[in-house]
Amino acid sequence: MTFAIHGLAVAPGIAIGRAVIAVSSRMEVVHYFIEPHQIGDEIKRARRARDTVVDELKRMQEEMPADVPHELAALLDVHLMLLQDELLENGVKRWISDRLYNAEWALTTQLELITRQFDEMEDEYLRERKADLEQVAERILRYMRGVASPVAPPSSPRRAQPVLAGMSEDFAEDPLVLVASDLSPADMLQFKNSVFAGFVTDVGGKTSHTAIVARSMDIPAVVGARSASQLVRQDDWVVIDGDAGVVIVNPSSIILEEYGFRQRQVSLERERLSRLRHTPAVTLDGQSIRLLANIERPGDCEAAMRGGAAGVGLFRTEFLFMGRAGKMPDEDEQYASYLEALDGMKGAPVTIRTIDIGADKPLDKGHREQSVLNPALGLRSIRWSLADASMFRTQLRAILRAARHGPVHLLFPMLSGVGEIRQTLAQLDLARAELDTRGVAYGTLKIGAMIEVPAAALMVRSFLKHLDYVSIGTNDLVQYTLAIDRADEAVAHLYDPMHPAVLRLIADVIAAANEAGKEVSVCGETAGDVTMTRLLLGLGLRCFSMHPAQILAVKQEILRADAAKLTEWAQTVLDSDDPQSLCAAAA
Ligand code: PEP
Ligand code: MG
Repeated sequence: MTFAIHGLAVAPGIAIGRAVIAVSSRMEVVHYFIEPHQIGDEIKRARRARDTVVDELKRMQEEMPADVPHELAALLDVHLMLLQDELLENGVKRWISDRLYNAEWALTTQLELITRQFDEMEDEYLRERKADLEQVAERILRYMRGVASPVAPPSSPRRAQPVLAGMSEDFAEDPLVLVASDLSPADMLQFKNSVFAGFVTDVGGKTSHTAIVARSMDIPAVVGARSASQLVRQDDWVVIDGDAGVVIVNPSSIILEEYGFRQRQVSLERERLSRLRHTPAVTLDGQSIRLLANIERPGDCEAAMRGGAAGVGLFRTEFLFMGRAGKMPDEDEQYASYLEALDGMKGAPVTIRTIDIGADKPLDKGHREQSVLNPALGLRSIRWSLADASMFRTQLRAILRAARHGPVHLLFPMLSGVGEIRQTLAQLDLARAELDTRGVAYGTLKIGAMIEVPAAALMVRSFLKHLDYVSIGTNDLVQYTLAIDRADEAVAHLYDPMHPAVLRLIADVIAAANEAGKEVSVCGETAGDVTMTRLLLGLGLRCFSMHPAQILAVKQEILRADAAKLTEWAQTVLDSDDPQSLCAAAA
C-alpha cells in the first residue's frame, strides 16, 4: 500500500531506492559497513558475543538457589532457547555477509525482522516473548559494545544478493536509501561516500548536524519524519523528496514515473549550473564575492574544488575526533589532516575551526548518553576546549605547524565574551611557546571568531579589536536568539533565520566588520540558501561559506544581482516586521 510520511526538507533532490532500516526499536548501536575480507571475523565476533551470553546464562542457571521461583528458571530457559535459535544466528550471519553490516547492525536488523513476526502472532504468550528476545539481544549488544571497532565504509558502491527469507527478488542493482530513527553525525560520516542514495530520519531539525552532514553529502534527505523507521519496512521501495520533505513508501508506478521525471530534471539543472564553475562570482555592478566551502573532512576538498570554491571557509574539525571511542587524534595525526586539507585546496586559504563538540555533536555515543540536561547551553565548543586545555593546545599546535605550509585562518567557535577571547588567545600563545621549546617550526595565521551567540553579536565591536576577522554561524545564532533547539523537530517550525531579531544581529555584525575594515563571512546554512543571497548581499556581505554542492546555485544568484540596488531594499527588509514576505515578493 502506498503512503506518505511528512518531515523536514533538508537536502534537495529526489532519491528512489529500497529501504535499509538502520535502527532497532530501543537499541542504539553503531552502524557501519565492513570490508568483504572482514566478513569471517565479523561473524566470529557476533558468535563470540552470543556464546559469552549463553555461557553467562548457563552459569546463572547452575548457580541458581533451589528456592528460586519456577517461573524465573523457566524464563532463563526461554532466553537460552531464543539465543540459540537458528533464525537469529543465521539471520545475523546473512546481514553480515550479504550486506556487509557490522555485527551490531546485523543483530538489530534481524531482531527487527523477527519482532515484527512476533507482533503478528495470534498466541498472546508467544507475542510476549518479543520482550525476551529484545532482552537477550541487549545482553549481546552490551557485550559487543566493549569490542566494537568501527571501520570506514568502502568508498565504492557494493551490493550483494540478499538471501533472507521473503526477499526472493533479485534486487542486487537497486539503489538503497537509509531510514533511521536517529543518526549521529559520526554515523553519517561513516556512511559518507557509501552506497546510499538518500536518507530519512525520525528526528532532527533543519540545521541539526545530521541534516548538515546530509547536505554536505549532496544527497536528498528528509529529517524529523517522526516514526518513519517504524512504518517503513526493510526493502520497501521509497521515494525521498528532499525538496518537499516528503517520503513516499511503496509508490505506485505512476508516482514512480513522475518522480523519475523530476529526478532527470534535477540532473539537467545541475548540469546547467556546472557551466558556471569557472565564472567569477561578480555582481552586475562589479562587486566581487568570495564563495568558500564548508568541509568536514580533508577529503571534502575535492568537492570544494569541483564546486569552484575560492577556499575553505569552515573546516569542522570535530569530525576528526568523533566515533573513536574517546581516543583523540594526536598532534601528528591532526597535523597530517590539516596538511591534507591545505594540499587539497592547492594554495587557497583554509579556515580551520577548533573542535566544536557537544550538544547534537557528541564525540561518540557514550558521550551523548552522559550529556547534561541542556547540552546546547552546556560545556560545548570553546567551553569544552578551555576546560581541557591540554587537548586544546594539542590541536592548536597541530594547526600552527600546518600554517607553515599554506594560508591558514584559525577560527574559534561559540565565544561569548571578551574574557573568553583573552583566555583562548593565551592558550594559543602557550601552544606557540610549547613548539618553541621543542624547536618545532610553525607559521603565521589569521585569527577569527564565530559569531553564533547573541552576546557575541552585540559585543562584536569589542571582539573585532582582538581579531582579524569574524564568521557568522547563523545555525547557532538563530538557535540562541530565538531559544529554539536546532535539533528538535517539535520546534522546527519556529526556527526562522529571517526572524527580524536575527536579521538585525546579522546586519549589525556585517556593518561593524565592514566599518573596521575586517573580513566578515557567513558560514551557517543561510549562506547556501539561495532565498537569502540577495538579502545578505544587500546587508553588505561579500564572503559566503557553504557546502560545496550549493556554491554554483548561490553564484547564479550573485551573477543576477545588483549589490548597490539591493542595499536600500535590504534596509526596508530590516525595518519590516515581516521580512519573509518582502523577500518572497522580491524573488
Ligand atoms: C553555525 O552555528 O552556524 C555553524 C556554522 O556551526 P555549526 O553548524 O557547526 O554549529
Ligand atoms: Mg555553530
